[in-house]
Amino acid sequence: MQASLLFKNLVSSLTGLYDKNEAASIARIVFEEKLNINRTDLALDPLRQINKKEEDKMERLFQKLLTGSPIQQILGHTDFYGLKIKVNKNVLIPRPETEELVQLIINENKKETGLKVLDIGTGSGCISIVLACGLKNADLTGIDISNKALRMARMNAKLNDVEIQFKERNILEKKTWHSLKEFDIIVSNPPYVTESEQKDMHIIVLNHDPHLALFVPDNDPLRFYEKISDMALSHLSPGGKIYFEINEAFGKNVKNMLESKGFTNVLIKKDLNGKDRFVSGILV
Ligand code: GLN
Repeated sequence: MQASLLFKNLVSSLTGLYDKNEAASIARIVFEEKLNINRTDLALDPLRQINKKEEDKMERLFQKLLTGSPIQQILGHTDFYGLKIKVNKNVLIPRPETEELVQLIINENKKETGLKVLDIGTGSGCISIVLACGLKNADLTGIDISNKALRMARMNAKLNDVEIQFKERNILEKKTWHSLKEFDIIVSNPPYVTESEQKDMHIIVLNHDPHLALFVPDNDPLRFYEKISDMALSHLSPGGKIYFEINEAFGKNVKNMLESKGFTNVLIKKDLNGKDRFVSGILV
């Protein structure tokens, strides 16, 4: 069969489930990973053929994609800030916004060396792993309530050849805080989608990302931010910084909450889509 034809078929069958650009980008990933055929190959050799075995392999993969499995879970990995991160159903698939969060932290702290960093709700470990690579001699700790997520995080640290201490902790439980030491940076991308926002979510996210990593009750949308900030009051070194990824609807609320607890230089930053997505603050 002609590769370019198969490509077109895949894009058109995915359109509907995804918008056209997403469908094309998924098809490109599939072709590169599974057939070793990239965009240029397709353009330069439109008559290129694939054999029956490859065709069958693609057929099986198409079926999984069409039943709504995310491409990252089918392949078992994704790219995050240029690194390979393994994913499965127990961890949130790393998002492009979170790449912006780590970029921000690296930009603001790359001159320092030996920073002690805590990543709360580490999931796949993507934030800690990039920070371990991007900050000089940083000492990274990642915590998560999910042991299954931590298993992935450990695998990902090994895969990317960085050393991170991963610990199972529920940050909402105050009694576990004493077992954590002092940090110069605390970062978190906690669950922040309110239950009533579920109805606006893409079915694929809703069906495949772990709800534990996504949702907060409508009547308590800042629960993680409040607890993490309280914990930070006793676990940040003088001048230590806090960085959050947030729900775009709650920028001001998170800012006010941090200021009311005594954080200074509290800033809301926008993501590439122009939405309030990050809040940072300093504890002097
Ligand atoms: N940004 C994610 C989403 O839109 C949510 C991540 C989170 O809750 N921390 O699905």
